[in-house]
Amino acid sequence: MNALFNNYARRPISIIEGKGTIVKDSNGKRYLDFTSGIAVCALGHSHPALVETIKEQSEKIWHTSNLFESPGQVKLAESLIQDNHLAHALFCNSGAEANEAAIKLARKHTGKHHIITFVNSFHGRTFGAMSATGQEKIHQGFGPLVDKFTYLPFNDVEALNNAIDDSVAAIMLEVIQGEGGVNGVTDEFANAIQDICDQKGILLIIDEVQTGIGRTGTRFAFEQTPLKPNIVTMAKGLGGGFPIAGILATSELYETFGPGSHGTTFGGNPLGVAVAQTVIDLVFQQTFLDEVNEKSAYLVEKLSEVLPADQFTIRGKGLLLGIDCGTEVASLVAKAEEEGLLLVAAGPQVLRLLPPLTVTNEEIDEAVEILNKILVKERAVS
Ligand SMILES: *Cc1c(COP(=O)(O)O)cnc(C)c1O
Repeated sequence: MNALFNNYARRPISIIEGKGTIVKDSNGKRYLDFTSGIAVCALGHSHPALVETIKEQSEKIWHTSNLFESPGQVKLAESLIQDNHLAHALFCNSGAEANEAAIKLARKHTGKHHIITFVNSFHGRTFGAMSATGQEKIHQGFGPLVDKFTYLPFNDVEALNNAIDDSVAAIMLEVIQGEGGVNGVTDEFANAIQDICDQKGILLIIDEVQTGIGRTGTRFAFEQTPLKPNIVTMAKGLGGGFPIAGILATSELYETFGPGSHGTTFGGNPLGVAVAQTVIDLVFQQTFLDEVNEKSAYLVEKLSEVLPADQFTIRGKGLLLGIDCGTEVASLVAKAEEEGLLLVAAGPQVLRLLPPLTVTNEEIDEAVEILNKILVKERAVS
């Protein structure tokens, strides 16, 4: 009998300590962690500034609920909306919850119900977020879903134009579909979405749960597109490993979430807010973001040197990269692990590289050597 549900396809190792990009399992084996807990540990494991923040804050106050004022939340909100067009924040605990908040806000604000999302999107596992997710395997057995979501093919302007009518409250997308295969939005499609939203008064929700907080080389991934979202959701990297999430929204949405309209007990808990503030103070510095882009360019260059372009396609931005292998990658994840490199798949055929944003060039070299071994050298032999 298992004490735990069997709902995760877990790799058979347990990681018990980590520092930066390096983690160790319970047998003392060392790995390069190119998963970062699925894009969560943006500053690597046990970053000294985060350890210090947790220690300090835990001796002051852990939790007060949202019954009271929260200067920490205000400061964090101000840090997140500086230098963009967004005006207000609300904090919660997970990506799915952030997307729930976004969906509720869009419905209440517009008085409409219909939300357009995309095939192979991933928005989370709660009912609203699951219903927004354009993957049948995620829905399997859980119906009936929340009504009025339509899944359109990604990057298909014609399908989008045909689906727009007066019932549409919002269009919701990831700038790069993370779980769905590291598929980026094209400029043409982004322009079409923005034009439609502007012309029809449709709200634009961007799910930055995976792409946000410096992961793609800018604070948020939408900054690299023509998109101007009304609502942005964020989670994974925000707490660097501490569970905290949130939404950002433009000023016209402010009145829609009045007192009593929405909330959560743990949302914006002082411990989470303190950690997220430290993450943002470090990651949102331009010099830090420049380094993410330099490391990304270095990693892509090194990968291109070893991976034959006719067999492998490298996609993504910043340190959210995918190697499309054109074959099933589950066994490759296991092989990489044997060689001391932790990876996560994105869809059936893509290996996803999500190192901490603090990864070094030496660690990149080491990871590329392992990828060269398992993807090229050993395949040539067999
Ligand atoms: C991980 C993820 C979610 C869900 O986040 P949880 O914290 O697991 O609920 C939602 N959207 C995207 C794009 C994600 O990558």
